[in-house]
Amino acid sequence: MNCPNCGRPESGVIDSRSLDEVVRRRRKCLACGARFTTYERIHLRDLFVIKKDGRREEFSRDKLSLGIRRACEKRPLPTGAIDKLVDSIEAELYKMGRGEVSSARIGDLVMEGLRKLDQIAYIRFASVYRTFADIGDLKEEVDSLAARRELTPANQLPLPSCEAVNSLSGRKRR
Ligand SMILES: [Zn+2]
Repeated sequence: MNCPNCGRPESGVIDSRSLDEVVRRRRKCLACGARFTTYERIHLRDLFVIKKDGRREEFSRDKLSLGIRRACEKRPLPTGAIDKLVDSIEAELYKMGRGEVSSARIGDLVMEGLRKLDQIAYIRFASVYRTFADIGDLKEEVDSLAARRELTPANQLPLPSCEAVNSLSGRKRR
């Protein structure tokens, strides 16, 4: 980083602070003494994804984001929730510190994140991503979600029989 005042390349670091993936450094030019600040982003090294069929392709944040967005379509998620999830998965992948990662591992991280974020999105993603061998697990998951949903009305005080009335008034009951 050249000095913004005199353009010389040599500077000394006066102070250094780490802000997540960015390092903020106060610098002093060794030639003219001007002080300036740099923000240095840790350079992410190349990351390759190994697909199920053995092909290797460069990791794409856009692709990851697209897959998650598709699963979350029309779900009432807080603003920025998807970006946050993409960020955390990306950070996790780079943190593993290896040059390559299997697409299955990425899928698992997405599933883990979506499970906490939104169960419908989770099921959607799972149904696309999971292999045939795992369909038993998926069914179990769907069943347990369905069971959980059915539990709620049963736990509340019974109302006069009609189911429609039950579901309409469900939110207002105390
Ligand atoms: Zn200077």
